[in-house]
Amino acid sequence: MRASEATEYYFTKAADELELPEWLRKLMLTSKREVAVQVVYERDDGSVDTCLGYRVQHDNSRGPMKGGLRYHPQVDLDEVRALANLMTWKTAVVNLPYGGAKGGITVDPRSLSLKEKERLTRSFVDGIHDVIGPDSDIPAPDMGTTYREMSWIRNQWEKYHGFNPAVITGKPVEEYGVKGREEATGRGVGLLAVKALKRVGMRPKECRTAIQGFGNVGTHAAKYMHEADFPIVAVSDISGCYFRPEGLDVPDIVRYSLAHGGLEGYQKAELLPRDDVLTLDVDLLIPAALGGVIHEGNVNDVKAKIIIEAANGPTMPAADQTLADNGVIVLPDILANAGGVTASYFEWVQNRQHYRWSLDRVRQELDHTLSDAFEQVWQESVSRKIDLRTAAFILAVARVQRAHELVGLS
Ligand code: NAD
Repeated sequence: MRASEATEYYFTKAADELELPEWLRKLMLTSKREVAVQVVYERDDGSVDTCLGYRVQHDNSRGPMKGGLRYHPQVDLDEVRALANLMTWKTAVVNLPYGGAKGGITVDPRSLSLKEKERLTRSFVDGIHDVIGPDSDIPAPDMGTTYREMSWIRNQWEKYHGFNPAVITGKPVEEYGVKGREEATGRGVGLLAVKALKRVGMRPKECRTAIQGFGNVGTHAAKYMHEADFPIVAVSDISGCYFRPEGLDVPDIVRYSLAHGGLEGYQKAELLPRDDVLTLDVDLLIPAALGGVIHEGNVNDVKAKIIIEAANGPTMPAADQTLADNGVIVLPDILANAGGVTASYFEWVQNRQHYRWSLDRVRQELDHTLSDAFEQVWQESVSRKIDLRTAAFILAVARVQRAHELVGLS
């Protein structure tokens, strides 16, 4: 199943509950604009390389479109389309005044030097600068991109359009970024884990946790949850799964990963095959790496009772049904990882106000926004007797439907 079919499946379940007419479903499933551009850049040895870059703008009925930019060898138009679609529902479920978009370049960033990444990024902006902007589409970091790419993008875009840091979020803090943006997605995952646990009557210290992916989201989720008393018994990255049944020393493994650019060689835990992280005997599983990792082939081996989807699209539809049948609680991606886009919204607001918020204010507003959304989704799920994902999609789709209705389209 392609990524966009999976997103469509979840949308359709909500659309059925809302009894949306066919024409509105079609409108809501069709991107407003899909752009593919040639990205040509010079390698350090003087040779020239070419790859494809994408920007998909899905829906702007609730505001300018917003979504990350991914550098990964598996990026393709279908994946970007699915992720753009998810962004529309994500911004709607946390009630930000945004629509959804996503972008990506089919490239392995680990094979590039810093200078090569800069030339690649600037070439991509040359291809898409006309379709992004602070009032139309505001990119942000995603897998394989960081504050550095965001800084180059702002600089390159401003060469065409003049000063306006609100064109992009996830910028360096000293350059119009916001304190707390980098930690926001992981912090949100941790905060929502605590809230979900309360609802099922468990305490954090009883909740053995495994995290797949130890990049931006995985490390910040681990830090927050460690402080909240969760025993983190396994974390994984591209190099393998690192397991310590009595609980990992989280500050130590985070320091190691930052110092070594990943977990490879970490000695204070047992090294297991990479995908074992998904099927360990734990209470809580946090996929925080790639999409499609929980599928028909492994879902019956998943032992966790709760899954918090930090990654985008980690659960394939067939597996989602099995998880529901097995009584597993799944907090869906559009809510679970919405901390990042929420902090991005605060950054955009500050850029437009030319005013800086304190870290405390960012954290407070973030916690408030996510807690509110969580309560609404949980209530929707209880009152309709449906799973959390369908509840989240219903809230989101209904908000987008209302926006179309108010401008006279439905
Ligand atoms: P990142 O590039 O910082 O880290 C990705 C991590 O996943 C790395 O540790 C990498 O080694 C690991 N990984 C890659 N392939 C793997 C595999 N097959 N098995 C195990 N680990 C693997 O990315 P990130 O920013 O932390 O994003 C992670 C996920 O969260 C993505 O799905 C992204 O779309 C989603 N997300 C990120 C943000 C954000 O603010 N960064 C916001 C919302 C959603």
